[in-house]
Amino acid sequence: MATVTFQGVTRRFPGATRNAVDNLDLEINDGEFLVLVGPSGCGKTTTLRMLAGLDPIDSGTVLIGDRDVTDVAPKDRDIAMVFQNYALYPHLSVEQNMGFGLRTRKTPKAEIHERVLEAAKLLDLEPLLHRHPAELSGGQRQRVAMGRAIVREPQVFLMDEPLSNLDAKLRVQTRTQIASLQRRLGTTTVYVTHDQTEAMTMGDRIAVLDQGRLQQLGTPQELYDRPVNEFVARFIGSPAMSVWDARITEGALCLSDADTFRLPAELLASIGEREVRVGIRAEDLRLAGEGEPGIELKVALVEELGSDGYLYGDARLGDKDLDFVARVDGRNHPVPGDVVRVIPDLARLHVFDAATGERID
Ligand code: ATP
Repeated sequence: MATVTFQGVTRRFPGATRNAVDNLDLEINDGEFLVLVGPSGCGKTTTLRMLAGLDPIDSGTVLIGDRDVTDVAPKDRDIAMVFQNYALYPHLSVEQNMGFGLRTRKTPKAEIHERVLEAAKLLDLEPLLHRHPAELSGGQRQRVAMGRAIVREPQVFLMDEPLSNLDAKLRVQTRTQIASLQRRLGTTTVYVTHDQTEAMTMGDRIAVLDQGRLQQLGTPQELYDRPVNEFVARFIGSPAMSVWDARITEGALCLSDADTFRLPAELLASIGEREVRVGIRAEDLRLAGEGEPGIELKVALVEELGSDGYLYGDARLGDKDLDFVARVDGRNHPVPGDVVRVIPDLARLHVFDAATGERID
């Protein structure tokens, strides 16, 4: 087991106009499950490939434990990778696929057999050891790819979207299995996904990337409760946070010339008069009771999820149309076309600088 450290790591592809990964500083703890998440093209895979030694680094240093591996060949880094397409050898059996890495290392046959059996037990693959990849379901292939990584007993697991070829139900089931397996084995893991739900449910900590830059590193709860900027605020959480332009003036928050809300006093003290962006999560907006004042909005759509529902609507405030999403009771809620009033929980507003998008506290 080991820590993983990126120090000022930068990668620019030949001919590109910006860095695919830009001056990345990141320390991953021993035994940690670290998820790298961000939209397509943000640099997740490039980061993982630099750690694996599959992509060169233009500047900076990568350490595994205390060892500088920046110039070490991939096979000597003591890592095991699980790819999106599993990369199984079609002509080899499950058992041979799982033992492949050990065979190339000249591990004694008996030991290979023992380690493969142990991993197969862990992953429920024992009955399938003699099949070939073509005779397996997608979920089973995924487990073989995991098994092949496990038998290597590496210092670090690297996983690049390992669930993306599975259907939705299997994906949910498998993500729980991978997370609990990793905790059992205690092997430091770096896991790449573009799916924020996967990141939130699996990671001890999450690193959010955008355009090659690390935006925030924190636990799922930290990212959800205190996103450092508007990008993280909108990326983490489902449905996405509603965010609007607003102005703070004379101790009040104005969404438009027509509406003013008092902000909590402790928040106001640090903000002062300025243009801001203000966001609120769906669960922090509630429907107003009979006669209670609130923001009037027209319901456009209700997404029903059983116990909960999400109400999407827009409010005409002065000269602006603002989009809202509010969580409502799944069994008793307004319907499209209704006009309702909603009340934001002012203590749970997220306020960002209008120019930089950085969080203001
Ligand atoms: P995705 O989720 O779509 O896989 P990602 O976050 O993993 O995206 P990367 O594959 O790391 O992103 O790519 C980062 C940036 O580098 C992107 O702008 C991409 O277009 C560029 N890039 C990636 N590979 C190459 C390459 N071989 N040559 C040139 N540019 C590349």
